[in-house]
Amino acid sequence: MPCRNIRSDASNLPSLSLPPGAVADGDATHEYDVAGDPPAIEPVEHEIRLDFMAGGPIRHGHLLTEYNSWGSGPDDRDPWRKHGLSKPPGLTYAEGTCRRRLDVEAQYYELYDDDRGLADAPAFLAHRLRQCRTTDHPEEALRAERTRRENWYETLIPWLNLYQVLKRSSYGTLVADVVGPTYGAGALTTENEFVGMVVLGDDGPESEGYARENELSAEYVVRESELSCAEHESAPSPSEYGIELPAPLLIGRYASGSRYPFLPWSDGLVCSCPYKHDQPWRVLCKHELLAAIVAGDMDTIFLPVTDGLSVPHRARRFVSPDIASTHTPRVPGRGQP
Ligand SMILES: [Zn+2]
Repeated sequence: MPCRNIRSDASNLPSLSLPPGAVADGDATHEYDVAGDPPAIEPVEHEIRLDFMAGGPIRHGHLLTEYNSWGSGPDDRDPWRKHGLSKPPGLTYAEGTCRRRLDVEAQYYELYDDDRGLADAPAFLAHRLRQCRTTDHPEEALRAERTRRENWYETLIPWLNLYQVLKRSSYGTLVADVVGPTYGAGALTTENEFVGMVVLGDDGPESEGYARENELSAEYVVRESELSCAEHESAPSPSEYGIELPAPLLIGRYASGSRYPFLPWSDGLVCSCPYKHDQPWRVLCKHELLAAIVAGDMDTIFLPVTDGLSVPHRARRFVSPDIASTHTPRVPGRGQP
C-alpha cells in the first residue's frame, strides 16, 4: 500500500505514490520487511555513491581491461597497480568506506540481544543478528555472521563488484563514444540520458490514449513491459517495488540502447538492471556509477532530467540526504575513523 503521495509540479502528471520502504527509515511511515520486501539500499551503497561523486570523472585510462573477478581477492595484487593504471579516486574512497563500515558495525555484534541497540543497524544486518538469538549457539552464529559481513566488505564489494564495474567491458560501454576534454556530466549525458517519463501499468490505459488525454508527448509515456527491466527475470519492474502506476519516474536511457527506470527506494534510487539485482550482494551497477559521476559533477544528490517530463524531486533523489550530510569520502588511513 502506498504511504506517500508526492504531487507532480505539472497538473497533467500523476502523483508519485510510494510504498513505506521508499521513505527514510527515520520517517514515521517507514516500514520495511527484510524477508518480503526487495533489498534495502544499504548505508554502504549510499556512501559508495557519495565516494564516486566526490572522486570526479572516470576516464578510459582508469578502466581495467584484463581483470577477471573470479578467484580474485585481497591476497592478490591490486589490479590497477599490476597493470600500471591510475586508480580512480572514487574507488580509493569506496575501499576506505568499506573498511570503516566494519568498525562502525562492530558495536552491533555486542548489542545483538538488544533491540534498542540494533535500532540504527542496517536492516539486513539487524535481521541476521536477531536470527542469531534464536540459534542453539548464538556466539558461534555471531562469529559466522561477522565473517560473512567481513567477506562482503573486503572481498565481494571491492573485488567482485566495484572492480568488475570499473572495466572497459562494463562502465566503458557507457563512455565509449564520449569525446572531448572531460568525462563530466555534459559529455556523459550526451550519449546517456535521464528521461522523465510516465510509466503505465500493463493492465492500465494504453499509452497513446493516456498521452493524448493528458496532453503529454507520447514519446514520454511508456508501459512498464516496454522497459528493459521487463526483458530479464532478475530485473524488477516499478510495480514489483510497490510503486503505484501510473507514476512519473526517471528512466536511464543508455548508450548501450537499454532503458532502465530508477526506482525510489530506501530514501534514494535503485537501478532496475539485472546486474544489480542478479546477486543481492552487489552494491553498484555501471548505470549507478554513471549517475554518481553525473551528480557529483553537478554537485547535487539529485539526478538531472536531461530529456522529457519534469518528474518530482523524489524520483530524482539519488542518495539519502541524511547519509549525504554525514559521510565524508576520504583516503584510507588518513584522518580519524
Ligand atoms: Zn543498472
